[in-house]
Amino acid sequence: MKKHNFYAGPSILPQFTIDETIKAIQEFAGSGLSLMEISHRSKEFVAVMDEATALFKELLNIPEGYSVIFLGGGASLQFAMLPYNLMKSKAAYLNTGEWASKALKEAKNFGEVVEVASSKDKTFNYIPKDYKVPQDADYFHITTNNTIYGTEIRKDLEVGIPLVADMSSDIFSRPINVSKYALIYGGAQKNLAPAGVTFVIIRNDMLGKTGRTIPTMLNYQTHIDKESMFNTPPVVPVFAALQTLKWLKAQGGVAAMEKINIRKANLLYDEIDRNPMFKGTVAKEDRSLMNICFVMNEGFEAHEKDFLTFASERGLVGLKGHRSVGGFRASTYNALPEESVKALVNAMQEFEKTKA
Ligand SMILES: *Cc1c(COP(=O)(O)O)cnc(C)c1O
Repeated sequence: MKKHNFYAGPSILPQFTIDETIKAIQEFAGSGLSLMEISHRSKEFVAVMDEATALFKELLNIPEGYSVIFLGGGASLQFAMLPYNLMKSKAAYLNTGEWASKALKEAKNFGEVVEVASSKDKTFNYIPKDYKVPQDADYFHITTNNTIYGTEIRKDLEVGIPLVADMSSDIFSRPINVSKYALIYGGAQKNLAPAGVTFVIIRNDMLGKTGRTIPTMLNYQTHIDKESMFNTPPVVPVFAALQTLKWLKAQGGVAAMEKINIRKANLLYDEIDRNPMFKGTVAKEDRSLMNICFVMNEGFEAHEKDFLTFASERGLVGLKGHRSVGGFRASTYNALPEESVKALVNAMQEFEKTKA
């Protein structure tokens, strides 16, 4: 039986993505070869890369003047590649979690970094609101969804300088106005594909302004010019990403997906707020639709392990919270069916009865 998969990443993918990728690994596009053993420059694979890029742009409604590229190295490489390519002398960062902190740390290798605000004082359980973005910074970096802590910035900010976002764990979960961003990046293994591919959306006029010599592989322009084919791309993850994009389109795209995501998240948050054994960990107005963090309520702390066992006996896996927060984290990415959220809510209600 397939489990209810709440892992934070790598994480659940649409069954369609898995099935189509299995088929292509066996035989790819009538080529008589596996997807894993064909040249990335074959016409069959070039068609996959072209379609993935086009569908990525279509589904996010990406305007003219932007490029979409697929790279290796994960979101973590982008923490360095971004300032390498965009930072002349100064950048501003909003520190909303562990990934944001890592991004900020890497930027310090390239110039002055202003931390405009941080929620570290409260274990990153809220998104800072009152801060001033220095208007002489080359860009302002945010992490829209804080995968570990379960907070999310769900609107496209207006900050007066180029806005850059790590959207590793909420890309394609809702419509975004790409024109408000100078650059968006993320690892694909949360909401799009298996691990191994990273997406970058760049406004083309942001590039070539630092005066810095950038190694070829770390220069966004290289990959834009070669349409993500400068070197061998992660062929299987790119193929899988294309399948997820096709699935997403069939679901009605990001607007339809947002409605489902809101419904799923509300189901679970309502139960967290109702059930006396549990409580949420973050400010209500900043709650993430993708990673829902909660803990045992006061007086019930001793039952934490029991609940994880109770849940896993019901086929609910991946619910253990990140070690820096403890408790539980239910990741409710696009591919997670509503039935899985209902199964979790059910388990919470059953657990309440056994302890009452
Ligand atoms: C998972 C994650 C990362 C790290 O991604 P890698 O691809 O493993 O480097 C960075 N930022 C956010 C928001 C994440 O969720």
